[in-house]
Amino acid sequence: MHKLVLKPGREKSLKRRHPWVFSGAVAKVTGKPESGETIEIHASTGEFLAVAAYSPQSQIVARVWDWVKREIDADFFRGRIERALALRAHLLPTSDAARLVHAESDGLPGMVADRYGGIVVLQLSSAGAVRWRDALADALETVVRPKTIFERSDADVLALEGIEPRIGMLRGTAPPAQVTVDEAGATFEVDVPHGHKTGFYLDQRGNRLRLRELAAKREVLDCFAYTGGFTVNALIGGAATVTAIDSSGPALGLLARNVALNQLPQAECIEGDVFQVLRKMRDQARSFDLIVLDPPKFAPTAAHADRAARAYKDINLLAFKLLRPGGLLFTFSCSGGVSRDLFQKIVAGSALDAGVDAQIVEQLSAGADHPVALNFPEGEYLKGLVCRVAADSR
Ligand code: SAH
Repeated sequence: MHKLVLKPGREKSLKRRHPWVFSGAVAKVTGKPESGETIEIHASTGEFLAVAAYSPQSQIVARVWDWVKREIDADFFRGRIERALALRAHLLPTSDAARLVHAESDGLPGMVADRYGGIVVLQLSSAGAVRWRDALADALETVVRPKTIFERSDADVLALEGIEPRIGMLRGTAPPAQVTVDEAGATFEVDVPHGHKTGFYLDQRGNRLRLRELAAKREVLDCFAYTGGFTVNALIGGAATVTAIDSSGPALGLLARNVALNQLPQAECIEGDVFQVLRKMRDQARSFDLIVLDPPKFAPTAAHADRAARAYKDINLLAFKLLRPGGLLFTFSCSGGVSRDLFQKIVAGSALDAGVDAQIVEQLSAGADHPVALNFPEGEYLKGLVCRVAADSR
């Protein structure tokens, strides 16, 4: 097996079982391993540290498969997938849509598998995972026994690994044009071939249900509404009205279908840029009792944190201005480059500049099917706060 030898002193993070090797830490690589090939990682002293997948084009030049010397083969992947499923067996009673494998946090760097009823969607995003595509699909077929395995390997990060995107069938029968899932009594149509991520934001499941519990009789504004995850739950929860904003017409089209599928009164849909629409609403002195801000990733890495912070500040400030006294703000960041701590500071600054008195009443995160391995803090990307504007504010 080819070896990657680290520079002196650069073995510390691996010894703490962080699964990434950055290119700057590498002293030499023996032989000429191919993209995704399994290699051994050694300290400068010659000490064995891990077996990993080699990714020559990426800044993350190796991702660890295991910390003991072992063969990486079909059995290895079957074992890891079985372990990921066992973890979830007792955690997710309320939905037939769930994340089955959450990449590094499930010991499978670069591999995400999401289940939508009888369909499993596989998303590969690292050279190692792509090299093992067939073994991963076989293992999913054996362990999960879905009708269909569909591949959605088209995440932006693929380009950093020098890998071509791939979307298409992997195993089983072609998926139906419309995939419908049930989430705690709510029905959603999911667009597996074209939707965001693998089709749906599974990470917000618990937070959508929390919103359902708090929405009764409120006038709700759902910003970055996508296909209506929060909108549908607000309506099920008895919201007086829901206004949904998104820049994507097709997403709002599916939102309206999802509202109809659940036999709920339609939401007001606004196709536009949230930054502009909120300004206009402020100028029109519109107000709401509950606002959801679930924007896309403004900062994929810490390098984008400054610009992202300004964007978060802007929308949160506008939202605080639109909230009535006693109103609730569900505000999220899914940016890996913005920590929970920083996000809370940004939201605090927004409330201050908006001139409102507000409290955090709940901290939110992704659900149990998106675990965070303790040796991989990067796995905690979704941060949410529920803030309440004081009833006597202003
Ligand atoms: N809340 C959704 C997920 C939101 S994903 C759910 O729970 O399912 C982010 C959404 O923001 C996408 O639908 C995208 O179309 C939309 N979006 C991105 N930038 C936007 C902008 N500036 N204004 C309005 N919508 C935007």
